[in-house]
Amino acid sequence: MGVAALNNKIRVAVAAWEWGAYLGEEGVQRGIRVKTSSYVRFHHNSLMCSAKATGHYVNSILASHEARHDNYDEALLLDADGFVAEGAGENVFIVRDGVVTTPPLSSVLPGITRDAVIRILNDAGIPVVQRRFPRDAIYVADECFMTGTAAEVTPVRELDNRTIGKETPGPVTKMVREIFMSALRGKDPRYREWLYYVP
Ligand SMILES: *Cc1c(COP(=O)(O)O)cnc(C)c1O
Repeated sequence: MGVAALNNKIRVAVAAWEWGAYLGEEGVQRGIRVKTSSYVRFHHNSLMCSAKATGHYVNSILASHEARHDNYDEALLLDADGFVAEGAGENVFIVRDGVVTTPPLSSVLPGITRDAVIRILNDAGIPVVQRRFPRDAIYVADECFMTGTAAEVTPVRELDNRTIGKETPGPVTKMVREIFMSALRGKDPRYREWLYYVP
């Protein structure tokens, strides 16, 4: 053991266990309540944002604890310039006037679910814009959802106690979630190559 960890022989450990809805079954059905965190997502010159590294999670854990302590389901982290970055363990998307926007890959983890969702949306003829936006773009969005291996596609119904859109989940979120969940179970031939058979 040591901070330098130069000669560690074990590089990978795999754990498998049963896991329900990460942000709660009610969250999936009705949407989650999210709070903008006082913790900032680390800058891409502080750590390698693209790496899903264990050490990075201290940032997410601090933000999650803060949000859950105040009875929110999840934290939203802003980047060092104050623009929306992502959830503690999820990428974030907004929908407004039929356009889907997600933060670009600078201070966020390039999630495989983010990638899958962008492809699903493009295949459905809905373009996805990757650009920075401030938190109030979420307040006035028609829909907001978060994506991740654990969260899958989870609708967001509130940010900072402000209700987002008219209904949660909104139509785009619902459509993306349905296609994603069916792809995940091998039921959508278009996305079969995302799955590997584990004997
Ligand atoms: C895991 C994670 C995500 C989602 O990535 P997936 O590859 O879709 O699971 C997003 N943000 C952070 C900070 C994460 O740790």
